[in-house]
Amino acid sequence: MAKDIGEIKDRIAGCLWGQAIGDALGLGTEFMSSDEVKQNYPDGLSKYSQIGIESGRWTDDTDMMLCIARAIISDKRIEPKTVVHNFKEWYKTSPIDIGVTTARILSLYEYEDSPYEVVQMMWERFGKNDAGNGGVMRTSVVGLWNEDVAENAERICRLTHADPRCAGSCVIISELINSLVWQDKGLSFDELLQIGEKYDGRIRPYLEIARNGILEDFELDDEQTMGYTLKTMGCAVWCLCHVDNFMEGLLKVVNAGGDADTNAAVTCAVLGAKYGRKVIPEYYIQNLNRKDEYEEMIGQLTNILIR
Ligand SMILES: [Mg+2]
Repeated sequence: MAKDIGEIKDRIAGCLWGQAIGDALGLGTEFMSSDEVKQNYPDGLSKYSQIGIESGRWTDDTDMMLCIARAIISDKRIEPKTVVHNFKEWYKTSPIDIGVTTARILSLYEYEDSPYEVVQMMWERFGKNDAGNGGVMRTSVVGLWNEDVAENAERICRLTHADPRCAGSCVIISELINSLVWQDKGLSFDELLQIGEKYDGRIRPYLEIARNGILEDFELDDEQTMGYTLKTMGCAVWCLCHVDNFMEGLLKVVNAGGDADTNAAVTCAVLGAKYGRKVIPEYYIQNLNRKDEYEEMIGQLTNILIR
C-alpha cells in the first residue's frame, strides 16, 4: 500500500505539537498531589490561562527535544556530538527547570569531550539507581527519524542517563512513535515486552499496568517516585491503550499531578503521533508562547524527515 505522505506529515506535526502542549499544560500541576490539583483547579486544569503568569510556556522537556531536533536539521542525521553541543549551549542559558541528573552532568567540564564516560561514571557514583525521566522526556523526535530507531534512542538517552531502565523507556517510546507515524499502527504488547526485557526486568510490571491497570495504579503523584522513567513511559503506553482521543489523554495526565509536564509531554507526543495534528484544538497550538519559532522548526524538520 502506498504511503500517504500528507498523513505522515500530519502525524509528525501531531507528535511534535503534542510534546509541547502536554509540557506547557502539565506545568500547571507539576509536583502537585492529585488533591492539590483539585484544590487549585476545582473544575480541572484544561487551559493554559488558568496557570497565570506561566501560561503557554513549555519547559526543559521540549527545550531539550528542540536541541535534538535542531541537531537533526543541521546534520541531516542523528549525530550525538551535535546534540551534546546543543545541550551545552542550552545549559549556558541557565534554564530554570532543568532536571537534577541533567544539570549535574552538563555542569561538568569534561562532558562535551567524553559524554558517555562522564554519564556512566556519575551513574555509578550515585549507586546505579538514578533512573529519572530526563531521557524519555525528549525522545519523541528520535522516534520520528525513520532509521535505526532503537540504536538512536539509546545513544541519545545515554548522553545524560545511563540506567538501562531509562534506555528501555526511550526505546519503547521512540519505537512506538516511529511505528505510529510511519506504519500507521502501534506495537503489540509482546513487542513492547520484548523491548523491555532486552533492557531491564523491572520494565515489565509497568507495561502490565499499562495494559491491564488503571492510571491511578502508577501513583503518578507519589512524592518519592514521581520522576521515575518507568512511570512516565507507563503512563504514555496506558493512554495509548485506554483513551479514545488526544484531549482525553492530555486532561487525564495533566490532572493526575506529579511530574505532570513530563508525563503529559511524552503521552501527548505519542497520542499526537497516533491521531495527528488535525485533531488537536487550535487553542493549544496558537497560545503557546514560542509558537512561531516552533512551527518553523516543524516545517524544517519535516522536510528532512520526508526525503
Ligand atoms: Mg519539565
